[in-house]
Amino acid sequence: MPKITIDNKELEFKPGQTIIQVAKDNGIEIPHFCWHPSLSVSGNCRVCLVEVEKMPKLVIACATIAADGMVVHTQSEKTISARNAVMEFILINHPLDCPICDEAGECKLQDYAYQHSVGESRFTETKQHKDKRVELGPHVMFDGERCISCSRCIRFCDEVAGENQLTFVKRGDKVTIVTFPGKQLDNPYSLNVTDICPVGALTNRDFRFKSRVWDMSSTKTICSGCSRGCNTDMWVRSNEVLRLTPRYNDNVNSYWMCDNGRLNTFKFVNEDSRVNGPHLRRDGKLTKVGWDEVFASAVSELKSFNKDEVAFIGSAYSTLEDNFLFAKFAKSVFGSKNFDFPRVTVPGSGDNILITEDKRPNSLGAELVGMSGNGMNFNQIIKGLIDGKIKALYVVDENLIELNPELEANIAKLDLLIVHASNFNTLTNYANIVFPSATYAEKNGTWINIEGRIQRLKPAVATFEADRSLDGMAMSRLDKFGTEYDRWGKVRKVDARSTWKIIVGLANAFGTKYKYTMAEEVFSDISKSIDEFKDLNYDSIGEFGTQLKFKKQIVKV
Ligand code: SF4
Ligand code: SF4
Repeated sequence: MPKITIDNKELEFKPGQTIIQVAKDNGIEIPHFCWHPSLSVSGNCRVCLVEVEKMPKLVIACATIAADGMVVHTQSEKTISARNAVMEFILINHPLDCPICDEAGECKLQDYAYQHSVGESRFTETKQHKDKRVELGPHVMFDGERCISCSRCIRFCDEVAGENQLTFVKRGDKVTIVTFPGKQLDNPYSLNVTDICPVGALTNRDFRFKSRVWDMSSTKTICSGCSRGCNTDMWVRSNEVLRLTPRYNDNVNSYWMCDNGRLNTFKFVNEDSRVNGPHLRRDGKLTKVGWDEVFASAVSELKSFNKDEVAFIGSAYSTLEDNFLFAKFAKSVFGSKNFDFPRVTVPGSGDNILITEDKRPNSLGAELVGMSGNGMNFNQIIKGLIDGKIKALYVVDENLIELNPELEANIAKLDLLIVHASNFNTLTNYANIVFPSATYAEKNGTWINIEGRIQRLKPAVATFEADRSLDGMAMSRLDKFGTEYDRWGKVRKVDARSTWKIIVGLANAFGTKYKYTMAEEVFSDISKSIDEFKDLNYDSIGEFGTQLKFKKQIVKV
């Protein structure tokens, strides 16, 4: 392999790599604004200038191909002086409004200004003024004065989203970004430009001004919007989810996520409609009760039916751990063969970038852990419901009425409906028993994406029973009435549990002792009993997931 020396370190590189790529692969940071590892090279910001021995002038590291024997200096006097000069030039017209800028705390310009700036400007003339609040599209706001004309946003739209929506107009220090005439920045991936904009010129209209970034915690998790399983960071303040951003995973989503996943998959976690504690229907009304009471009631109700009158419906929203234990309960504790889960695909809704037609994050996982019994399948259960053969339904994390509004009248006629739900909905309107389901933001567990990659979910939001020192929690205190506060006010927590944990309580009430106390223990049982998961554990799955090797044919939905 050819070798290059960067800052006195001899490094091997692959032919065709640029200096900045070799440096990055070896942990050497060369400052850059316009270069992005997943976009074409533009070479316009000039902040990556480096000194290369035997070259007459400094070169830009993003566009200079590494050569065998090349010697590069990224910290020499000449390099630092050029970098400082470029920074001074870029900052001439910048408004320096960090105190009110959403990007502050995660801004490349701010970071480099600390490292490569003298702290004061020699520019005494009037700065260029440009439009500051331009709605480029439904989700993205543009501030022309903050823009440093790096062109990342233009290249993203052209090269990744495949939509030519943005361009530069005007010249020199008047240059600015606009949408093409008659167009908006409204491609399904538009919000990625707010992540890659190296300054605060492009902001997320849904999130802007909601929080300073340093006031939030972030937890590595997975998007629930479809079976791609994009890796994300979930940002939480005061136990409330405020935004999702994509997390790099070259095997799944690269640096990107879609707008639907980013905007529409977390707000239900914060809503007032959350089911807070177990509920029983009394005198026609759902009434909050204690856990022991709800378990006892569910046991006595379920026992009053013949086994073939009852069906169990799991969900591809639920984790492997949830479905595994729910199926085990249906089969081994209740003794039913009638359990399955709905496959929800929307033909034509996928694309060749990330979005898939399967709108559930764990269809493969539900299949693999045996959420389908060898009795009635999902369609047969629905037919049994319509025919009146199924008299009791136990449904986890799915709203059957939302899936098929025509079922409402049949559901209303059921003798028993037990539902696990995170939020009250049209199905819980008919439930006799509602168990409060923890959302994917509140639990440990695993999902398998459409490619067969098993990935970890981690709790970002604390539920009532969770440890108060959870990652997603800022420092909080209890007042004398037991109400929890942090510096932003009252902390709301919901009394909800993961389905696997609810099933443990229910099985125990049935007289079958399940000893699981953590999701990890359920997973350990999965790995011991199902070949596909052999030798896997939460540590080996890691931050970026593990590709499973399927031993049996799994039907991709
Ligand atoms: S808006 Fe941001 S990403 Fe686009 S050119 Fe300006 S600085 Fe670059
Ligand atoms: S492509 Fe699917 S998994 Fe990825 S962000 Fe969008 S909805 Fe979420």
